[in-house]
Amino acid sequence: MALTAEELLSVWATGSERHPVDRGLLLFALAAPDTPGAELADRPLGERNSALLRLHQTLFGETLDGYCDCPHCGERLEFALRCGDLLAVADDTASMGEVAGLPCRPPTSRDLAAVSHLGDPEQAMWRLLQRCCGGGIANTASNTELLTAFEAALEQADPAADLNLALACDACGQAATVPLDIAHFLWEALTAQARRLLDEVHQLARAYGWGEAEILALPPVRRRAYLKRVLA
Ligand SMILES: [Zn+2]
Repeated sequence: MALTAEELLSVWATGSERHPVDRGLLLFALAAPDTPGAELADRPLGERNSALLRLHQTLFGETLDGYCDCPHCGERLEFALRCGDLLAVADDTASMGEVAGLPCRPPTSRDLAAVSHLGDPEQAMWRLLQRCCGGGIANTASNTELLTAFEAALEQADPAADLNLALACDACGQAATVPLDIAHFLWEALTAQARRLLDEVHQLARAYGWGEAEILALPPVRRRAYLKRVLA
């Protein structure tokens, strides 16, 4: 699906006010218009990520540009990924079965929201495990073995739920694993596009006195043609 300039700015304005998990759901709703809105929060995260990757392909193209700081030496590492490569590992029929003998389901956006206040990734993973595997797991005790089994089962059953990228640092040569937050990538691309549109509206409104709606309704090629004249 394509978005008009007005629709894109509307999504951006709504999402700007939201928590990242809810922003992910806003984008998921856009990416999966046939899925009832009330169900989105309870769909597996891999399904959400796949839908967001496909939306990125449609709206902003195939390439995800990103960077991270090396956890060992602090060097900035840039990377470019292809949405199609990430989609190739996705499996939208996520079913976890059992983890260490306990029935388990794949995590959803609702689970993500419930653990998002936890700063420590291991603690967040542990809470996810408790939510997804239900009763039978003590509230406070940590169990590394169970956590490892859960992560392995998740990787196997819903590989797009928790995407990571393995990098080797150019500066220090050490290996680093970077979490890939697809909702964040898509949101950044949408924000950049929204800022460009706002700049265009600002320049054209100032030059010609046209209203925002009028400017956004112009076909992009004509908007850019006027802009070129204003900036000439
Ligand atoms: Zn390094």
